[in-house]
Amino acid sequence: MPEKKNKLIAYNELERMIIEPGFCTLCGACEAACPVHAIKVEHGKPHRLHDCSKHLDSCPICYDICPHTDALLFETLRFVADAPHRRESLGYYRKILLAHATNPTLRDASKGGGVVNALLHFAINEKIIDSATVSEASSRVPIKVKPSISLVPDDVLSAVDAKIVPSAVAEAFGRVVFEYGKVHIAFVGIPCHIRAVRKLEAWQHKLMDSLEITIGLFCLWTFSLGRLLEYLLHDHNIAANEIQNVDLTANEYVVTTEKRVVRIPLSEVKSHIMNSCRTCVDFTSELADLSIGGASPLKDWSMVIIRTKKGEDFFNRAVKEGVITTKKVKAEPETLAHLIQLSAHKRTAALQEIKAMRKAGIPVPTAIEFLYKTIATEISMLKEVKVGEIMTKKVIDVPPSMTVNELLDEIAKHHHIGFPIMDESKQVVGIVTLQDAMKVAKEKRSSVSVGEIGTKGLVVVFPDNSVAEAFEKMSKHNVGRLLVVDKKNPRSLLGILTRSDLMHVLSMRAKLTVVYDKD
Ligand SMILES: Cc1cc2nc3c(=O)[nH]c(=O)nc-3n(C[C@H](O)[C@H](O)[C@H](O)COP(=O)(O)OP(=O)(O)OC[C@H]3O[C@@H](n4cnc5c(N)ncnc54)[C@H](O)[C@@H]3O)c2cc1C
Ligand code: SF4
Ligand code: SF4
Repeated sequence: MPEKKNKLIAYNELERMIIEPGFCTLCGACEAACPVHAIKVEHGKPHRLHDCSKHLDSCPICYDICPHTDALLFETLRFVADAPHRRESLGYYRKILLAHATNPTLRDASKGGGVVNALLHFAINEKIIDSATVSEASSRVPIKVKPSISLVPDDVLSAVDAKIVPSAVAEAFGRVVFEYGKVHIAFVGIPCHIRAVRKLEAWQHKLMDSLEITIGLFCLWTFSLGRLLEYLLHDHNIAANEIQNVDLTANEYVVTTEKRVVRIPLSEVKSHIMNSCRTCVDFTSELADLSIGGASPLKDWSMVIIRTKKGEDFFNRAVKEGVITTKKVKAEPETLAHLIQLSAHKRTAALQEIKAMRKAGIPVPTAIEFLYKTIATEISMLKEVKVGEIMTKKVIDVPPSMTVNELLDEIAKHHHIGFPIMDESKQVVGIVTLQDAMKVAKEKRSSVSVGEIGTKGLVVVFPDNSVAEAFEKMSKHNVGRLLVVDKKNPRSLLGILTRSDLMHVLSMRAKLTVVYDKD
């Protein structure tokens, strides 16, 4: 069969924009999300196991959900944006406090306050969750980390302490759903892992029906394992299988083998951090329900940022049961100052790096640096901008009789993923999206029509509504596009307003005005 033209296959773009230029952090989300199991993360890189375009006419998912692409970033904000506070360097939050595991054994096992493990241990015990996806050191080579699945409380104890190399924990999430059939899962990961999971949620991927809570860790950077091991062997004569323990201090990377302890200045090992970390603006897992990290200079406490209502309820239950002990951050003000300083530094350094890369002609994903500056007040500032001013007026519509296969051709041709359905008298009768089309079995796509699968209950706005009102409507109805119709005849289509249109206006504003809280 001849290859169809205009196929919308995202893997090619993912490979070109993320994998090949070194922006991949090996989270495994693309592997977990791929509907035809065409991707495998192994040997330090995602690989395509087979050509997915043989099974699918169009599929944007792996590009969309990768944490380093510009797709869906705006949509991910809605998971945290109802929090009452926001700081430029820390994102949205409800509360910031200090905490540690009340049980000293859990505390001693961790380099921080042992909060993550105490929470997971408690939540599995109390059946609040039925499992957790975590990461633990490989038993043979402790410098390596592997994603693991905790099913009983004591499983989480082996995931103690962070390993500063990549872990395909999002891939493990896929396994815990499909292989273990778990439905109340806690996900623990670093900021890019959390962003991948939020993108999957924004995509309404079926995996995410089983997500109970996201616990994000702070992250300054991660080493490229291959490069680090090569360097340790070449410059310090340390083979991977000799390493018993590694530790990071403020100035040193400390490697312990059976025979010696090697102290390497941080400045020397820093050249082995992953490329993507140089442009990463998120230190505190800004999209997580709960973010947890060090509380420097305190030794056995962790800093906890509660961002969502769900995170707050989850955390408070553990506090109420005495599993976690807390302390007001006000009591140790230097811990918060340190956090803000580190987070702001990471962001500034990343923005400078992005600028330098762009100058050198290196393609950097476009939305990241301004997206995290988007705040609720900005959206409310868009009250003066009317929908009619920014909507797309030239709308491509489809007839109800079009088959699903023909629709997929239209999607590939125009690179739009949703179309209004118009009847013969040019009255709008519904809307159909790529997601609707993908639900139809392949063999039925030439006989099923878009009229049969489209949504008939329309979410509409009028040209004189403000963009802020439109944003509220999109969030409330969880849709990515709104039809703009005539007030006098709601079946008469005047335009379409997509999340990308809103993104565009917000990004223009972000460039023109500085309205963010200053730390
Ligand atoms: C790559 C990385 C970089 C970090 N950088 C910083 C930093 O710069 N500043 C800071 O304050 N905190 C950082 N942290 C977080 C910190 O190390 C602690 O995890 C955090 O303070 C929580 O402490 P805890 O005592 O509650 O739990 P811990 O016992 O430390 O928590 C362990 C948890 O970390 C998870 N984990 C371990 N390795 C990985 C990995 N490679 N990828 C994903 N998850 C992993 C395990 O699943 C486990 O649940 C980093 C964590 C990682 C993984
Ligand atoms: S989704 Fe994760 S594993 Fe896949 S390309 Fe992106 S960062 Fe890499
Ligand atoms: S610095 Fe950013 S990109 Fe790098 S591992 Fe941490 S969260 Fe991921």
